[in-house]
Amino acid sequence: MKSAWSDRDAAEAVERYGAQGFNEDIALRVYTTRLLGRDPALVLHGGGNTSVKTRVKDALGTEHEVLCVKGSGWDMGDIEPAGLPAVRLDALRRLRALTALSDEEMVNQQRLALLDSKAPNPSVETLLHAFLPHKFVDHTHANAILSLVDQPDSAALAAEIFGDEMAFLPWIFPGFDLSIAASEAFERGRHVKGLILDRHGIFTFADTAREAYELMIAMVSRAEARIARGKATRHATAAAGLDAATIAPVIRGAIAEPLGGGAWRRMVLDHRGGADVRAYVDRPDLADIAARGVATPDHIIRTKNRPLILPPLDGDEVAVKVAVADAVARFADAYRAYFAAENGRTVTARTMLDPMPRVVLVPGVGLFGLGKSKKEAAIAADIAEATVRVVADAEAVGRYEPLPESELFRMEYWSLEQAKLGGATEKPLQRQVAIVTGGAGAIGAATARLFAANGAEVAILDRDGDAAAAVARSIGSALGIRCDVTDKASVDAAIRAVVTTFGGIDILVSNAGAAWQGRIGEVDDAILRESFELNFFGHQTVARAVVKVMLAQGTGGALLFNASKQAVNPGANFGPYGLPKAAVLFLSRQYALDYGDAGIRSNAVNADRIRSGLLTAEMIAERAAARGVAEADYLGGNLLGLEVTADDVAQAFLHQALALKTTGGVATVDGGNIAAAPR
Ligand SMILES: [Zn+2]
Repeated sequence: MKSAWSDRDAAEAVERYGAQGFNEDIALRVYTTRLLGRDPALVLHGGGNTSVKTRVKDALGTEHEVLCVKGSGWDMGDIEPAGLPAVRLDALRRLRALTALSDEEMVNQQRLALLDSKAPNPSVETLLHAFLPHKFVDHTHANAILSLVDQPDSAALAAEIFGDEMAFLPWIFPGFDLSIAASEAFERGRHVKGLILDRHGIFTFADTAREAYELMIAMVSRAEARIARGKATRHATAAAGLDAATIAPVIRGAIAEPLGGGAWRRMVLDHRGGADVRAYVDRPDLADIAARGVATPDHIIRTKNRPLILPPLDGDEVAVKVAVADAVARFADAYRAYFAAENGRTVTARTMLDPMPRVVLVPGVGLFGLGKSKKEAAIAADIAEATVRVVADAEAVGRYEPLPESELFRMEYWSLEQAKLGGATEKPLQRQVAIVTGGAGAIGAATARLFAANGAEVAILDRDGDAAAAVARSIGSALGIRCDVTDKASVDAAIRAVVTTFGGIDILVSNAGAAWQGRIGEVDDAILRESFELNFFGHQTVARAVVKVMLAQGTGGALLFNASKQAVNPGANFGPYGLPKAAVLFLSRQYALDYGDAGIRSNAVNADRIRSGLLTAEMIAERAAARGVAEADYLGGNLLGLEVTADDVAQAFLHQALALKTTGGVATVDGGNIAAAPR
């Protein structure tokens, strides 16, 4: 590990933040905090914290000596001065005289001493920073340090590696007591350059930003060098017959909890299968080493203490499904037992969190992170990947032995930790994965955006891969995939990509289509067949592939078809388009009938006169002219006299996705047209 300090970048930070009114101390604090935060071997997702002691003026112009310390909710990698709230140092230092201080009162005292009442809560490790005299204090949960402190003889290892340059602290729960212990450890040996916290991480401190940062790099590098000496070469064994796309829906189904009435509490998955991960999940001692617990306590809120470790899976689909369901049930039972035992020991009774795993290890396949969104699943997977390295390295040095579970219960159910996760109410489609075919078209894109806005993870499939990617980018976290729905191989590849990315599929919006025209008695068979390929078989090919995933999950799902007014009410010379659309409407009902017992609902939207790739500006002008009306009157030529838009169709799809008791239905979105009303 090398120092990434650059005089030029540091000067640039001083200039940039100086122009915003921040002093050099804060500018450099932001600069090196980001350097630390951007190296995943040092800091992951909200972990770690830093501080600087400096002087700032309040609104009245009075100068205060303050501690600018990382605020809750900020990531070190992209921190800004606003993420380092200023707390009056005298107010913090006064607390040093106390013998005890509850977490709630500690937070209260810290907030009272803020210069900005709107600032985020200062880190739970604020007092530790405040009680040390150094100007710059840096704290990380560096992987290499964790590999050494998660050992039965961690104190001896630390002494061997760091001598008396670093003070070693036994495990103490973060908060007031730890801050006192840290300050006392420093008082005992004022020459130390930092602290090694058993089962937790590392602090370094100095009077300049560069020195504190480079001490961190130097100490972590020493730990890395020690690990390298103990390391044997590891190699992955051959893969079993399973892959991520096959096993993910089975796992996703097994961990989904039924909420009644056809609703499920699902999770989104994030797969990792790199060489390190594969070597780890294929170790013969996996069940032993992986079950020992998290590498540093604050990982527990993201990953729970233990991963779900699946046995080597072979046999047919049914056998695999049973084995996974069995392993999940045992995991959940063990979690309930752990909660009951630990909760019984605490004074304040807690409410149990869900008992499902956040990390699943699958021999031959890799690992999955789980969460209520793709983002959360990726955080769990990132931490799990780091843990893989920490554990493997710890085993190379000696024996991986993290904190016992009884210590971790307090962390998992600590209000200050749970606050990091936020308690926002979930959006209606949260935890669900939707795919939209023809996703780059007007109706497809509008539906993809609306579903994403309602919390779904969305995959946009379109024959135009660039256009699909552009819609995905406009949404943010969505996936854009090139897919020709008339090509089974293309569909299978796209479905695999979606399942590998999100873990499964819950909603299909089967929307891809194109209009062919011709008087039915004269039209060329080739045109009719081409239209059937796209406007009927395209729907069937995708629906069949999606249903296979839904059946593997066993948690129902929604198939939503874009039928058309043509499906129920033919337009002159529109036979080549209307005939397959009529078949799609029937297809929708056939799926409703054949898969209702699996909880899979199937519905269709019957829309008319929507501006889109099918009804271009040119066609609108042509048809309005043919009818002798203005374009606006043509588009609003319905009972309500209103133009119907792609967004209106998207709303109908959303309604159908959420209407858990509706299947075999048709929603008409045409502003009113009695001649085309389904009967
Ligand atoms: Zn920490």
